[in-house]
Amino acid sequence: MEFDALVVGCGFSGAVCARVLAEEYGLRVRILDKRSHIAGNMYDEKDEHGILVHRYGPHIFHTNSEEAFSYIKPFSDWFFYEHRVLGRIRDKLVPIPFNFKSIDTLFPAEKAESLKAKLPAVFPGREKVTVSELVAASDAELAELGRFVFDYVFKNYTAKQWGTPVETLDSGVINRVPVVLSYDDRYFQDAIQMTPKDGFTALFENLLDHPNISVALGCDAKLHLSLDTEAGTMQFDGRPFEGICIYTGPADELFDFVYGPLPYRSLHMVFEHHDKTSFQPVSVVNYPNDGDFTRITEFKKLTAQKKTGSTTVMYEYPRAYVRGSAEAGIPYYAILNQKNRELHAKYAALAEKIPGLHLCGRLADYAYYNMDAAILAALRLARSVVK
Ligand code: FAD
Ligand code: UDP
Repeated sequence: MEFDALVVGCGFSGAVCARVLAEEYGLRVRILDKRSHIAGNMYDEKDEHGILVHRYGPHIFHTNSEEAFSYIKPFSDWFFYEHRVLGRIRDKLVPIPFNFKSIDTLFPAEKAESLKAKLPAVFPGREKVTVSELVAASDAELAELGRFVFDYVFKNYTAKQWGTPVETLDSGVINRVPVVLSYDDRYFQDAIQMTPKDGFTALFENLLDHPNISVALGCDAKLHLSLDTEAGTMQFDGRPFEGICIYTGPADELFDFVYGPLPYRSLHMVFEHHDKTSFQPVSVVNYPNDGDFTRITEFKKLTAQKKTGSTTVMYEYPRAYVRGSAEAGIPYYAILNQKNRELHAKYAALAEKIPGLHLCGRLADYAYYNMDAAILAALRLARSVVK
């Protein structure tokens, strides 16, 4: 073998593991990705109008982890960007997360004043609460507000996004988006909110630029790697492989679905170009209740691009995941609930039977990692696997 470590997948999980193994441990690392490009779901590129677009959905870096940011910081210049989202509710555009401005916009003045006075009184010292907490509030007026937010912000959006009623999902899914008890209209409240100046693909080019790292694109690891869980061995291209293998693809696929397929949700991204300077007031507008799409992203506003008379937007249509389909075969999201996590645990246990094989990342761990969580998990794993 011309490499000591094999990494499957070139998103943040794979690329960070590769860089750590190459740089900190001097290993020769081979990365395989079945896509024709690096950067996984963070991939961005200029479209035919010269506008940098995110091909797999809008990606905004935000974190409270100094460790995650300081690891990737040297691989790009950065600019400060705080994400703001509006949602179309009852024909009005209001801040999401739902905040005091949303209350002012949707309720009569007297009612709004009463709600804004009660919220901090009932939740003292809190900057935000979950919608579940609000629905369960002992104060009847606040509980009613909770049901309003649930019905108009979460219920239909979640049904569209996941293709399943909200009750069938882990509560952590909708609780990612809080109700904010102030006029703070930022989508994320994290301490670090920075965007790579030249985009994520350029950042990945620098991350992967190391003499010990080689990348093979358009290369499906399943065609090269075979596993024997009984014997606890791996083979690469028919020869025994005793090095480190970090796998960041779907865990069920790796083991030929022996316990059955894990459920995923896919998306259909529809890009549109408009000969106008601005399409919508902010970079992302959510449509919880209208249309079959969940949100529209205007990329220029996400990435501080200046261009007059030209803008590109993207509609996100959630759809069923169809394994092997060219159209619907991208497993964007794990569908998180107890049953599916238990199924994933069986695949994770299989991986443990093979010394040297490690699962890592949003797909392999069947998790809802943001980029920072994927980076942190990769750092921890890569720094623990070399014996
Ligand atoms: P991925 O980026 O999915 O990389 C896995 C790679 O493995 C893929 O490139 C795939 O082609 C490859 N692969 C799979 N199987 C094989 C195989 N058999 N052989 C070879 N290669 C294989 N996070 C944020 O922090 N902020 C955001 O704003 C944000 N927005 C998001 C929006 C959307 C629509 C989605 C879906 C996710 C978003 N995320 C966001 C999460 C972010 O995308 C993940 O944290 C990140 O993708 C995790 O990186 P990863 O390397 O684990 O997975
Ligand atoms: N959500 C919602 N309405 C919104 C925004 C989010 O119902 O306007 C729910 C939905 O279930 C979504 C989850 O909250 O899947 C998490 O939203 P987030 O924006 O964190 O999802 P991401 O796009 O980052 O995956």
